[in-house]
Amino acid sequence: MKQPTAIVIGAGIIGLALARALAVRGYKVTVFERNERAVGASIRNFGMIWPIGVPNGTAYERALRSRAIWREFLDTTDVWYSPSGCLHAAYAADEMDVIEEYVAANAKLRPCSVLNADAAFARSPAIVREGLRGALWSEDEMVLDPRVALRTLPGWLHERHGVEFRWRHAVNRIEYPHVWSGMRRYSADAIYVAGGADFETLYPELYDSAPITKCKLQMLRLVAQPADFKLGPALCAGLSMVHYPGFQVAPGVAALRARYAHEHADLLARGIHVMAVQNGLGQITTGDSHEYAHTHDPFDEASINTQMLDYLRRFANFPDWRIAQSWHGIYPKLTDGRSELVLEAEPGVTIVNAPGGGGLGMTLSFGLCEELVEGRYASAQSDNGTAVNADRHG
Ligand SMILES: Cc1cc2nc3c(=O)[nH]c(=O)nc-3n(C[C@H](O)[C@H](O)[C@H](O)COP(=O)(O)OP(=O)(O)OC[C@H]3O[C@@H](n4cnc5c(N)ncnc54)[C@H](O)[C@@H]3O)c2cc1C
Repeated sequence: MKQPTAIVIGAGIIGLALARALAVRGYKVTVFERNERAVGASIRNFGMIWPIGVPNGTAYERALRSRAIWREFLDTTDVWYSPSGCLHAAYAADEMDVIEEYVAANAKLRPCSVLNADAAFARSPAIVREGLRGALWSEDEMVLDPRVALRTLPGWLHERHGVEFRWRHAVNRIEYPHVWSGMRRYSADAIYVAGGADFETLYPELYDSAPITKCKLQMLRLVAQPADFKLGPALCAGLSMVHYPGFQVAPGVAALRARYAHEHADLLARGIHVMAVQNGLGQITTGDSHEYAHTHDPFDEASINTQMLDYLRRFANFPDWRIAQSWHGIYPKLTDGRSELVLEAEPGVTIVNAPGGGGLGMTLSFGLCEELVEGRYASAQSDNGTAVNADRHG
């Protein structure tokens, strides 16, 4: 029997996750990427594999499956990663309330616990001790360096799964079963589009009708810290607890958000919540802000970087605060609260975008794409009673 063929457009994490899933399913896969290497959202992020950010149920299971696939890759290469877990530090009674509620709701579902201040400090020497009441400790989370991982994954997919890559091949037209890159035409039995924030070039009419906008996030990297300094777990504080849907199980989140809306209005206006991770070179990656628009100002705001570092100083101490790099990334953001965008653009052509509603592609893509290719995909939203299966447009 003839081996089925698939074309995947985009070599970000979604495209690579699709390529893996299709190859495992027996497809001969070719990935088309318009750049010489991936330079989109997938190399601009924290590299956090972040189950704590997603709700219980389908999304959490998907995150754990994705983490297992990441481990298949990481454990068979020399790409650095750390199964570090994460700490959310609390400096106020209402922050501790949320942490205690979160742990009470999840005690039987996730490996998490409440730490007192001494125990939190013992886990991370970077945590600001003064005023610390305690912290949420979660073991699920993992950190990798996305720049290294995304550079190495294509070679691994080629060696392990025979995936072919056509770099510097922008796809400018699709009409199933064909895709065109310039004047050259290629064909496949299945076509998947994983173009990230560039959604409108190939399917402008779908982009216009989809519940989607774009989120711009500013990020910073601090220089390598002295060799004897180890951050340990990924470090977060209260603003992250009101940002991620995973914390909605804690009833106190609403009151906390209301207090922050008053006390941190300037930060919330720019969608700032601050987290810090350390990579294998000892550098600290931190951010981020969230601004929503279809077209973004291409310039970064120094004042946003200052706001983020000021908030970070409330809960983190680093030996060296010098900034090595700053940048921004853009991902598509769904505006109707659905958990990802899966569209059949035309029969045989599937668009996959915005896992976790936009900001959790590193955490969810491997699991999501496996479900899709194996035909057992159901929107993570179905847990909330609003099932959204693959929408049909055409
Ligand atoms: C600052 C920031 C921090 C984040 N932090 C995290 C995190 O810690 N953990 C987490 O889980 N998620 C995080 N995310 C979200 C995550 O990065 C995204 O969900 C994910 O990278 C999206 O992957 P993608 O493949 O859709 O997009 P991209 O990585 O942008 O890839 C899309 C690719 O498609 C290519 N392409 C587009 N059109 C064409 C075409 N016509 N022809 C050929 N190629 C084309 C592009 O060149 C690009 O390489 C973060 C995002 C940002 C921006």
